[in-house]
Amino acid sequence: MAVVQEKELLCKEWLAKPKKLLIDGKWVEAKTNKTFKTYNPATEEVLAEIPEGGKEDVDLAVKAARRAFETGAFYNKFSASQRAKCLYTLADLIDKHADELAQLETLDNGKPIKESRWVDVPMTAETFRYYAGWCTKLEGETINTNNDFFTYTLREPVGVVGQIIPWNFPMLMLAWKWGPALACGNSVILKPAEQTPLSALRLGELALEAGIPEGVINIITGLGPDSAGEFIANHMDIDKIAFTGEDRTGQIIVKASAGNLKRVSLELGGKAPNIVFADADMDAAVNGAITGIFFNQGQVCCAGSRLFIEKKAQDEFMSKLLDRVGKMVQGNGLDEKTVIGPQVSKEQQERCLNYIDIAQKEGAKLACGGERPEGLDKGYFVKPTVFTNVNNDMRIAQEEVFGPVLSVIPFEKMDQVAEQANKTRFGLSGAVWTQDVKKAHKFVKKIQAGTVWVNCYNVFDPAVPFGGYKQSGYGRELGKHSIELYSNIKSVWMNLAD
Ligand code: ADP
Repeated sequence: MAVVQEKELLCKEWLAKPKKLLIDGKWVEAKTNKTFKTYNPATEEVLAEIPEGGKEDVDLAVKAARRAFETGAFYNKFSASQRAKCLYTLADLIDKHADELAQLETLDNGKPIKESRWVDVPMTAETFRYYAGWCTKLEGETINTNNDFFTYTLREPVGVVGQIIPWNFPMLMLAWKWGPALACGNSVILKPAEQTPLSALRLGELALEAGIPEGVINIITGLGPDSAGEFIANHMDIDKIAFTGEDRTGQIIVKASAGNLKRVSLELGGKAPNIVFADADMDAAVNGAITGIFFNQGQVCCAGSRLFIEKKAQDEFMSKLLDRVGKMVQGNGLDEKTVIGPQVSKEQQERCLNYIDIAQKEGAKLACGGERPEGLDKGYFVKPTVFTNVNNDMRIAQEEVFGPVLSVIPFEKMDQVAEQANKTRFGLSGAVWTQDVKKAHKFVKKIQAGTVWVNCYNVFDPAVPFGGYKQSGYGRELGKHSIELYSNIKSVWMNLAD
């Protein structure tokens, strides 16, 4: 099937409508009167003008969120099961509009439509369903102290939450943030990334349609520094901030949080080791290497960007890998045949090409790719790229490229590879490929990372926690751990003494 033609786009009419901020249940213009553009990364065409929210807009959103929270609009006035119903309805609306949302995500981010349709959209709906289930399961506990007291805990929402998300999984990151925050009864102010604001605005409409009361969800589109992002991070009446993005921005967020000591959770970068032992199922490992680095054009914080291969299997592995990479179809994400789309922006394309240049200067050997693809003059494309002869100390093996660039590093001994795998400032994820169960279990313990996949890669479920060791951040999203991030525990002492 060819590229979806413009006239066939389900989101076409919606795209043409003026874009606004969502504050207190209403779509409003930004007080700044400023806008920025969002682009289709496959064609470099402008998709829409987006309001650039400023300080006044953030203040209004915080006020609305505070009012909604203090009046218990979604908490005391709603029963837990009413709250759950809203989240289930939102998930159903996402299913109902799945094709339209998938097209919107592909247009704005560039990712292959197959991925938007079969990963981003269904996982977004699943995340809301998972957290809908939590609404009715939030509990405190009774604690035995002594007979003169009855002691128990209450689990309560944190209050007003600022959520700043990146552009690599715009819709899914929104669900990871909104799901647990809303399940616990918080009010939120979301700032989507400036590169990909569209799906958040559409989901804002669906959230209102699902019955989430006004002021509970607010969306401020805008930029980072000296714009909506910074004003959210600095705001004195925001109780918690949840951030996903670059580690350097994470440091800024932490500093900004000091003003009112708001709670912070961070999901930052990675430089994941993907370790293939000679006894692995090689076809499966090659598959995992490809998924690990090329899924979403490598714009994944847990991308398996350092591929450690046991020397005696290197030749077999490399020949299978390069054969597969050579057959990957690159093009416009709206084309059903596409398995690798463009990078999200010109800036990201240039970043990848710059790292490719650095790697070659450092002595890494280019095995394939390393340039823009021929025949694709428009769009921010970078060919899937593999480097061999990489040393773990090179910049290409230590810095986050956030693109389709794989570094292959050979190893001989298990201890040697464990040490190298951990020699990075990040610790988000890693993977091991072996058919030896004992080796796998031993190795899982050696890897300093928040997620370790064994004989698989990039597997996710809303019930399984995700987050970083070391400079990959703190706090765990998904599962019950995210409920901890978005709730407070109150201890209650009842005096029973006569
Ligand atoms: P990337 O470089 O991958 O775009 P960023 O960390 O810069 O990652 O962006 C992730 C999110 O953080 C985006 O929504 C962006 O607008 C926001 N952001 C960037 N800089 C700041 C900042 N100084 N304060 C608050 N938010 C920011």
